[in-house]
Amino acid sequence: MHEYSVAEELVRAVLAELTARGLQGEDLLEVHLRKGELRLLSDEALRQAYEILAEGTPLAGSKLVLEEVKAEVVCRACGYRGPAAYPDDPAYHFLTPILACPRCRGPVELESGRELELVQLVLATPEEAPQ
Ligand SMILES: [Zn+2]
Repeated sequence: MHEYSVAEELVRAVLAELTARGLQGEDLLEVHLRKGELRLLSDEALRQAYEILAEGTPLAGSKLVLEEVKAEVVCRACGYRGPAAYPDDPAYHFLTPILACPRCRGPVELESGRELELVQLVLATPEEAPQ
């Protein structure tokens, strides 16, 4: 399952980040991940994998927040910039979509949509931490 290996990498990155900041993880509330829509990852599967992998680590109990980034393309032929067009076919949910310019059907360059990055860790301040 692809989501599982993504979550594994994410957990590793968050642990490294906490260590680098000298934090134990008890103050960690949320982990924000930017996810391009073309990654075709299931949010549900990602969250489940994260929960399983976080168990027994300082990340246990923190929430994975997914921020989806829409795909945007640029067409060199007609100058179009915006969302990509791809066939509305269920089969495409399992394949990497073939992107085309919605105006002239020409080939396009991808500007965004393939992101997968850890963007933010939300920490409870010691004053706000529950007793
Ligand atoms: Zn075009």
